[in-house]
Amino acid sequence: MPAAPLTRETLARAPKVLLHDHLDGGLRPQTVLELADEVGYRGLPTSDPDGLGRWFREAADSGSLERYLMTFAHSVAVMQRPEAVQRVAREAALDLAADGVVYAEVRMAPELLTSMPLDTAIEAMLDGFAAGSAEAAAAGRPIVVGTLLCAMRQADRWVEVAEAVVRHRDAGVVGFDLAGPEDGFPPDRIPEAIAVLDRTGAHRTVHAGEAAGIASIRAALDGARAERFGHGVRIADEVPPEGPLGDLARRVRDEQVTLEVAPSSNVQTGAYPSLAAHPVGRLHRLGFAVTVNTDNRLMSGVSASSELAAVAAAHGWGWNDVQTVTERALAGAFAEDAVRARLLADVVRPGFAALRD
Ligand SMILES: [Zn+2]
Repeated sequence: MPAAPLTRETLARAPKVLLHDHLDGGLRPQTVLELADEVGYRGLPTSDPDGLGRWFREAADSGSLERYLMTFAHSVAVMQRPEAVQRVAREAALDLAADGVVYAEVRMAPELLTSMPLDTAIEAMLDGFAAGSAEAAAAGRPIVVGTLLCAMRQADRWVEVAEAVVRHRDAGVVGFDLAGPEDGFPPDRIPEAIAVLDRTGAHRTVHAGEAAGIASIRAALDGARAERFGHGVRIADEVPPEGPLGDLARRVRDEQVTLEVAPSSNVQTGAYPSLAAHPVGRLHRLGFAVTVNTDNRLMSGVSASSELAAVAAAHGWGWNDVQTVTERALAGAFAEDAVRARLLADVVRPGFAALRD
């Protein structure tokens, strides 16, 4: 039997691994409306779920930072109760599983949930992911969800968040992330937080090389000892169309530092003019540890399968490429070795084999 064609539908059946997905960027529009209703939040631009989904995409697309940030103001505003956080997390697990994601790391900065203590926010996320994963497994779509806790670069709660990563690591928190503005807030600004991670052997990824370039990536690698980069795509600044790679690019490729690339999100924020002009294809071809991610499913109107389908179409990828980025994502995942080995042998490889022959 010939391989199945590479379409959004066949990709939805492929076992996928997602490393970079924001909980507060992935709410269902209907849920935003219902949660807003429950707390009497009046800030939303419309009460129609389709219209609201469209509004989120258009605001994120507008090129206006103010409108882009407004989208998160709404999603975070309706999540200010533990029950709401739990619901959003449960639905995220269900939606990812329904899309054929078998392993996901979903992240949020608990400090944005200002109405509750950090631990309450984290426990609500963990409870929601556990409930959604159990329901998905019962429906025949098993998924493993790991939680990443972000600290905001511009705020001063890094140590608290790093300590929370360690405190909750047996309950499903798999690592630490730094999010927020790269410029002006270097990843080693609060060295005590990095020391907590180092001392306890906790995993960390850092948003770097999204809005800012090479210097930001170098700081994440050397200053915070990042194992992965959130985006990291601006490493392409050191990858000329012809000729040798720059020093940092060579190091990132040779050390196979995982790049959590989210092409549609980068196009929306204006980092690249189109998916075709995005360096994801070039970096992948040159052997960088490229993975393909959603970033914010609500704001970008994407899923793990739609994003892979779009990248495959724009860059001429086949099943080999899709399987390679999937296995790379699993290799870069912060789950325990046994979990990764089981998923690779029992789920990912057989799943791709079934689609390919
Ligand atoms: Zn992100």
